[in-house]
Amino acid sequence: LEAIQNFEGKYPKQLWYLFMVEMWERFCFYGMRGVLAIFMVDQLLLTEKDANLKYGAIQAFVYAFTFIGGIFADRILGFKKSLTFGALMMILGNGLIAANPHDFFYFGIALTIIGTGFFKPNISSMVGDLYKEGDPRRDAGFSLFYSGINVGALLGGALCVYLGKSHSWSLAFLAAAVVMVIGLVMFLFTKKYLGPIGNSPIAHMPETKKRMREAAVYIGALISIPLIFIMIRNTQYTDIFMYVIGPVALIYFFIQLAKQKEKASRNKLIAALILIFFSIIFFAFFEQAGGSLALFANNNLQASLLGIGIDPNIVNNSANSLFVIIFAPLIGILWIALARRGKEPNTVIKFGLGFLLLGLAYYIFFSTRFFANEQGITSLEIFTVAYLAVTLGELCLSPIGLSMITKLSPKNLAGMMMGLWFLASAYGQYVAGLIGAGMSSPNADASLLDKLISYTNGYQQLALYALGTGILIIVISPFIRKLMQEVK
Ligand code: GLN
Repeated sequence: LEAIQNFEGKYPKQLWYLFMVEMWERFCFYGMRGVLAIFMVDQLLLTEKDANLKYGAIQAFVYAFTFIGGIFADRILGFKKSLTFGALMMILGNGLIAANPHDFFYFGIALTIIGTGFFKPNISSMVGDLYKEGDPRRDAGFSLFYSGINVGALLGGALCVYLGKSHSWSLAFLAAAVVMVIGLVMFLFTKKYLGPIGNSPIAHMPETKKRMREAAVYIGALISIPLIFIMIRNTQYTDIFMYVIGPVALIYFFIQLAKQKEKASRNKLIAALILIFFSIIFFAFFEQAGGSLALFANNNLQASLLGIGIDPNIVNNSANSLFVIIFAPLIGILWIALARRGKEPNTVIKFGLGFLLLGLAYYIFFSTRFFANEQGITSLEIFTVAYLAVTLGELCLSPIGLSMITKLSPKNLAGMMMGLWFLASAYGQYVAGLIGAGMSSPNADASLLDKLISYTNGYQQLALYALGTGILIIVISPFIRKLMQEVK
């Protein structure tokens, strides 16, 4: 594994292959995610409140399983086999729902949760492996990869929601399954170019022993499907799951930490853990997008952008992905240009900047109240500008975070650490729901104006906390930087 060759070019061709594979996977994932809540209300006849809770639970499970998928990739399967298995589970899950949306829904979702767990963290780890230690192209590479994620998210959200609403739910889930087939085929054809990257860590073992271990992972994953099925059917189990998985993950982390012989690698892992902790806060605020901001868009925004009629929820769903696609390459170029002059801010400062921009964004969301009419309807333009600020903040933190994890983790823990990064997103999603519920107006018969006041009060507070966190990170950055050793 150490003998990773130098992949040439500003953006190595292997990066483009991984970009495409991840694009299809996110197409499938965000396609499914885009229809979830509407489908549950429409077909499973859940109330909106229950659909929201169930949606949050599913999202939390999806990201929580990345931790498990990451560990098994490190120890047994390697990234390539994990990815293939994960893709198959996602295809099967969406295919089953397409076959009978009503009866197979929860079962199919359980499969996609396992599938994403084995897929999502490991493809990001492979991107990291394209670069040698200290390679200045790494952050820019992750910025590009992040664009691929958002091209997929934009197309998936649009296509599957369209198919589901205007044709049938079966077709929407079928589309998700089909794009994942494309992603898998693409991966199978291009994986040879990755060389040793992502190969099994137990390749040296005798064949039967190796096969037995791999089989144990696959069987374990299959056995956990009915358990997940039960847990997502009953939302109260989600709370228990979330109380348990985080501490278990932390204990596992500290055991691995204690096994590290060198102080320098222990320090790097601690630095990663601190930044992962901050990312929980970031995603708890960021993920208002799926909850309170979606409701705000539904209730309080005029359906016109620069004079063109448009559903505010479409803007709420797509503005972020669109801005990522436009700005990720520019920011990638900016980092490279700054690096050439020796002026690129380090990872920790970028994290701080991410929070400052997030704070700015929530001030802009807050300020929509000053543009509202007496009915409480306000400007979609201002709302969109706020999303621009959200996105710039995201670009300072989320792709940088992926890159940072691959820099700070020893090779044999890369999958687990990437899983821990996404586990933070699981908690972010979970907390986002709680914050959103707390901000909503307690009055059942609240007027639109009351709702506007209630949500924007909340946004003002989020702005303040985000700014505070950003300043805190920048102030303690020398300390974290020291833990990170030579990593910038
Ligand atoms: N939008 C990004 C993705 O889908 C980041 C998700 C996350 O880390 N919560 O990969």
